[in-house]
Amino acid sequence: MIPIVRQEPILRFAPSPNGRLHLGHALSALTNADMAKAMHGRLLLRLEDIDVLRCTPEFERSILEDLRWLGIDWQQPVRRQSEHFAFYRAALDNLIARGLVYPAFLTRGEVKAKVAAVEDRGEIWPRDPDGAPLYPTDERHLDPSIRRQKIATADRYAWRLDMDRALVEARQACVAPLAWEETGDGEKGLIAADPAAWGDVVLWRSDAPSSYHLSVTLDDAAQGITHVVRGLDLFHATSVHRLLQLLLDLPAPTYYHHRLVLGPDGRKLSKSQGDTALAALRQQGRSSADIRRLVCL
Ligand code: GLU
Repeated sequence: MIPIVRQEPILRFAPSPNGRLHLGHALSALTNADMAKAMHGRLLLRLEDIDVLRCTPEFERSILEDLRWLGIDWQQPVRRQSEHFAFYRAALDNLIARGLVYPAFLTRGEVKAKVAAVEDRGEIWPRDPDGAPLYPTDERHLDPSIRRQKIATADRYAWRLDMDRALVEARQACVAPLAWEETGDGEKGLIAADPAAWGDVVLWRSDAPSSYHLSVTLDDAAQGITHVVRGLDLFHATSVHRLLQLLLDLPAPTYYHHRLVLGPDGRKLSKSQGDTALAALRQQGRSSADIRRLVCL
C-alpha cells in the first residue's frame, strides 16, 4: 500500500516594505492568519524588499508593528528577499543556460513610442491583463555579437522570458495543460493558466535585481508554502508563476485569491491613501477588532 503523507499547511503573508500597511493588507494578513489557524497550519512572514531603493527599514518596522497590533502571529525567521539575491540569480542563470531568457534593452520611452506608432495606424498592440502593452519581441533573436556589445555598453538592461520558447519547453515537460487549483473568492476550481497573455515578462532587472515573478515563485517553494493566500489583483499573475514552477521544477501550491478592499472611487487601495493606513486608524483610537469589522471579517 502507498502511504499517504499529509503535508502540514504552510501559508505566508508577503508584504513589500515600500509603504505603510492599509486596510487591504489587513484583510490579506487576517485572512492568512485565520486560514492557517483553521487548517492547523503555520503562518510565515516574507518581506518582499527586492526594490532596495523604495523599501526602507522604517516601513519594515511599521509593518511588523501593525501586524502585532492586529494580533497576528507568524513563525520565525522572517524571510527578507534582499538577503537571497544569489538564490534568485542561480535560477536566472539556469534559464539563461537553457536559452529561455534574453537581455532586453528598450527603455520605457522606446516601448511607448513603438506602441504609439502601431496604434496611430489604427492597429492593435496586445496588452497584458493589467492593461500594459506587451514588450516587443524583436530582441529575442538579436545577433550574438550585437547583444554582447549592447550588454557591455548599456546603462541598464533586463532579462526577459522568451515566452514562446518557454511555452514549447513547458509543453515538452508536461502533457497536461498548465493550470492551478483555485479556492478563493472569485472563479474556483482548476483554472487554465494563460502565461502568454503577459508576453515576455521581466525576470531580472539590473537596477532592482530579480523580479516579483521570479522571487515570489522561488520563495514559495523555498518556504514550503502549500497555500498561497493573496488578493484577487494577483489572480492572473498566477499564470506566470505556474509556468516558472514548471520550468524550474518547483511544486505548485493551492491558491486562494481573496476579494479586495476598494476605496470610495471603487479602485484598489494604494499605499498613498493615508486615511486607510493602519497606523492612522490606530492613532484615531480604532482597535484591531474595529479593523476586522471594517474589512468585513
Ligand atoms: N508583495 C506583494 C504585494 O505586496 C504580494 C505578493 C504575493 O502575495 O504573491 O503586493
